[in-house]
Amino acid sequence: MTRLCLIAGDGIGREVVQAARQVLEALAVPAEFVEAEAGWETFQRTGNALPEQTLAAVQAANATLFGAVSSPSQRVAGYRSPIVGMRKALDLYACVRPVQTPPLANARAGVNLVVVRENTEGLYSGQETREGDERATAQRIITRQASERIVQWAVQYAQRTGRRKITVVHKANVLRKTCGLFRETALRVLSDAPDLQVEEMLVDNAAYQLARAPERFEVLVTTNLFGDILSDVASVWGGGLGLAASANYGTRTAVFEPVHGSAPDIAGQGIANPLATLSASVLMLEFVGLNSYAERLQTAIQAVLANGPYTPDLAGTATTAEVVQAVIAQF
Ligand code: ATP
Ligand code: MG
Repeated sequence: MTRLCLIAGDGIGREVVQAARQVLEALAVPAEFVEAEAGWETFQRTGNALPEQTLAAVQAANATLFGAVSSPSQRVAGYRSPIVGMRKALDLYACVRPVQTPPLANARAGVNLVVVRENTEGLYSGQETREGDERATAQRIITRQASERIVQWAVQYAQRTGRRKITVVHKANVLRKTCGLFRETALRVLSDAPDLQVEEMLVDNAAYQLARAPERFEVLVTTNLFGDILSDVASVWGGGLGLAASANYGTRTAVFEPVHGSAPDIAGQGIANPLATLSASVLMLEFVGLNSYAERLQTAIQAVLANGPYTPDLAGTATTAEVVQAVIAQF
């Protein structure tokens, strides 16, 4: 039996993961759910934001749905972001953000793209130093191995989902060594995929094109920092934070999450939009091979987006519970 781990976290993470559980149960997904804890509240109680049992539960599950966690605004001794901890422990190397036009009035039509971001190295390798008051440096690490596997992931994803074009985003004209290695490796991997149209684009132009003509993209593949920024630019076209979902794929398991954070400003009010977490659940169901369930959930989400009810972030007055009921009513 498929085992799905649910980690609610803090703030609205609790509300939206609870909502997702209700929906998945109403859909009668053939899976067992295991709940585990992580985050700021967990840290305050136990001294560890990502307890060993949680990591073990994630490792033992086929996939994990992760809500959101708060992090302290100031540095707190011993606190490490659980999502960073999971990324390292589980080698979640591919961070993937699909973005498509939502069935909402005024939405930009024709957008259907996915940003595939390398998530273990690059400028976010954690190799930073501060030299006194005047100087600080960061290392940008790019390896052939990590570049190869992220581009291979993008190729397999494109082939599996019937996409025809991959855009390799880099800045090799300036970052000749690091982006140079990424670019060279990417183009070599892509030369083995003659069915795909290959395009390369400098990151500044990619940002401009994503803002100007997002419908021209299918799959973008890039390094860590560039992918982080471009994912957020792209998510504008998907209807914003209340709808955006992302996936972190590793070699053995994957973690799915809404893009938004714990939203302390609305936590506890019962008005968080659960649709981002439900979209993350669609990706999770696809990952574990429960495709017909994924499709039914996706169709239900689209129907609710088209007709309401809407939570306040989408200019409605509905509660989380009302949106959940509306989704369930579609099954
Ligand atoms: P964190 O520090 O946990 O990231 P944050 O203050 O950055 O929290 P986000 O969760 O990133 O907050 O959200 C930014 C804004 O978007 C907030 O005003 C929040 O209320 C709103 N928002 C985020 N997610 C949702 C949601 N699912 N439904 C409704 N509003 C949301
Ligand atoms: Mg935030």
